[in-house]
Amino acid sequence: MAVINKEKCTGCKICQTYCTVDAIIYDGDNHKCYIDQNRCTECYVCLRQKVCPREAIESIELDNFYKQFQHVISDPVENHGVTGVTGRGTEEVKTNDVSGRVKKGEVGVCIDMGRPGMGVFLRDASKVAMALADVGVELLPAEHTPLGALMKDLKTGELVEECLDYHLLSVIVEGKCQESQLKDVLVTLQKVEKEIDTVFSLGLILRVDENGQTEAMSCLDELGIPQPYRGKVNVGLGRPLCLD
Ligand code: SF4
Ligand code: SF4
Repeated sequence: MAVINKEKCTGCKICQTYCTVDAIIYDGDNHKCYIDQNRCTECYVCLRQKVCPREAIESIELDNFYKQFQHVISDPVENHGVTGVTGRGTEEVKTNDVSGRVKKGEVGVCIDMGRPGMGVFLRDASKVAMALADVGVELLPAEHTPLGALMKDLKTGELVEECLDYHLLSVIVEGKCQESQLKDVLVTLQKVEKEIDTVFSLGLILRVDENGQTEAMSCLDELGIPQPYRGKVNVGLGRPLCLD
């Protein structure tokens, strides 16, 4: 856990400009900075980059499972113990060319919540996961995506109460549905975005025809959701393509 040693801190505020979520607070009465532990994501940017000229930022042991989870997901150089993936601990559905999780007729749904500067509380991730589950999205289990380990039940998407107040730099809610369910999923996301206190981006993973087209995307036009013409493909660095 990142903490500031009051004895060493001179209150120069240099560290504030490096914090990814504005969790370092200046205490004008004492002319010191301290870390707001309710907001800190344990991303360890301040520690890794050695931003303090007085070496006043120190780490102490992460004292419970949720703190460790918060750190592993928020620190991009950490490797997630179950999935074995660095970053946010998931290969994400954009690796579908090699993982083959999303089959023909299905849509992979990838909600990328939070951003540097803002972060995401797990209570908001729980709201999004519950909304998706409610319209029939099949959420990914813990062996594929870290958030699965915090769900009471994949069928409801609800996260355990103990984790809800933890703040992460970013987290991904993942699942898949049938193409015929996509419009309901999008309408649900349009509703739930008004109930959460962060931003998210939506990734949809579909199999396209030989012309690169799919009818399933037409519902985006119906709902006035722009289709950005850009792509991100992870070819799996030598892993064989999934052809089924
Ligand atoms: S950079 Fe170091 S000395 Fe300066 S305010 Fe931050 S913790 Fe204190
Ligand atoms: S660990 Fe990350 S969130 Fe916490 S104070 Fe350091 S930079 Fe900010």
